[in-house]
Amino acid sequence: MSGGDPRVIAPGSTIGILGAGQLGRMTATAAAALGYRCHVYAPDEDMPAAHVSATATRARYDDLAALERFARAVDVVTFEFENVPFESVRLLAEHVPVRPGWEALRVSQDRVVEKDFVRGLGIGTADYSAVAGPAELARALDEFGGGGVLKSTRLGYDGKGQVRVGPGMDADEAWRRMGAEAGILEAFVDFDCEVSVIVARGPTGETAAYVPVLNRHRNHILDETVAPAPLPEATAADAETIARRIAEALGLIGLLAVEMFVTRDGRVLVNEIAPRPHNSGHWTIDACVTSQFEQFVRAVCGLPLGSPARLCDAVMTNLIGDDVAGWHDLLRDPAAKLHLYGKAEVRAGRKMGHVTRLRLPRPQ
Ligand code: AMP
Repeated sequence: MSGGDPRVIAPGSTIGILGAGQLGRMTATAAAALGYRCHVYAPDEDMPAAHVSATATRARYDDLAALERFARAVDVVTFEFENVPFESVRLLAEHVPVRPGWEALRVSQDRVVEKDFVRGLGIGTADYSAVAGPAELARALDEFGGGGVLKSTRLGYDGKGQVRVGPGMDADEAWRRMGAEAGILEAFVDFDCEVSVIVARGPTGETAAYVPVLNRHRNHILDETVAPAPLPEATAADAETIARRIAEALGLIGLLAVEMFVTRDGRVLVNEIAPRPHNSGHWTIDACVTSQFEQFVRAVCGLPLGSPARLCDAVMTNLIGDDVAGWHDLLRDPAAKLHLYGKAEVRAGRKMGHVTRLRLPRPQ
C-alpha cells in the first residue's frame, strides 16, 4: 500500500500520540477515517482522546519503561503536547519514527530558544530579553522603558506564567507573580490584530498552508477564530511565507501553527509556534476540504497532503467552562457545527468544546 517508500506509514498502521486531550481526540477521529488505529499516551486521569482510540496508556512522560512498551506497540509516534523531555523522545526514536522530531520540540519548548530561532531566520518578533531573576528583570525593564510582558520560558500556555508589567509593579512583584525559575521579558506589542497560520509538511518536503486566520482572546484564552483573517493580501502572504519558512527550517514532519501579531504599521511578528494541531485550526474540520487533523495524519504518515482549500468562510468559538451548557441551543442553529470533547468535569477556563459557524452561501 505504501508503494515501497519506507517513509510512508500505510493505513492499517497504529499511530502513537503523546497527549490525550481534545487535539488527540480529533486527530484520532481523523486517523480512523483514513483506516489507522491510534494509541494515546498521557499521565492524566481524564483522557478525552482515549474515548475514540483503539488503545490508551496512562503513564508519565518520563516513565521510560512505559514509553518503551508504547514505542514497541506503534508504527509512528507524534504529539498533541510538545513539552516532552528529550530523554523520552530519544528513547522513542530508537524504536519507531518520531514525527515531528526533537528539533521542532526543542525549539518550541522554550520561548527564548524559539525567539532566537525565529530571529535567526531574519523573521521579526517582539523585542525580548532572557531574564534569570528579579535583578536581571529590573535591568531589562529599564531597557524596555519600564514595561513589557514577562513570561515563563517553559510550560506556558493560555496566558499561564504570564504577567503584564507596567508602572506600579516592581521587578520583585512581577517575578513572584510569574512563578517560574527562568523568564523572558518581551516588549509590549501594540498590535492591530493577532493571526495564525497552520502549515503541514511531509517527509518529502511537500507543504500545504491554510489561510491566515484572526484570533481573539478572552482572559488570555482563545475565544474566537475568524477565517479568513481580514488582512491586506500582502500581509496575508507575509504570514504564510513566515510559517512555511519556519516549518522548513525546523525540518518539520507534521503540522506547525505559528501565532503572529500584525502591528499597526503592517509588520508581521511571530509570537509563538506549536508543532501540532492548534485551536485556531478547528474551523478547518467543517469548512475546508481537508481538516487540520486529517492533514496532520497525512503529513506524519507520509501520505500526499490534502487540499487546504476553504469551502466557505467560518467563525469558530471555543466553549470554555460553563459555555458548554448552551449545547442544546447550538444544535438548533443550522449554520453551527458543534464539537464536544467529552471531558468528565466542567471547570472554569477549561476548553469543553467548540462551535464553528459556517458562512454558507444563500440557500438555493
Ligand atoms: P502567549 O502565551 O505568548 O500566546 O500569549 C497569550 C496572549 O497574550 C497573546 O495571544 C497576546 O494576546 C498577549 N501577548 C503575549 N505577548 C504579548 C506581547 N509581547 N505584547 C502584547 N501582547 C502580548
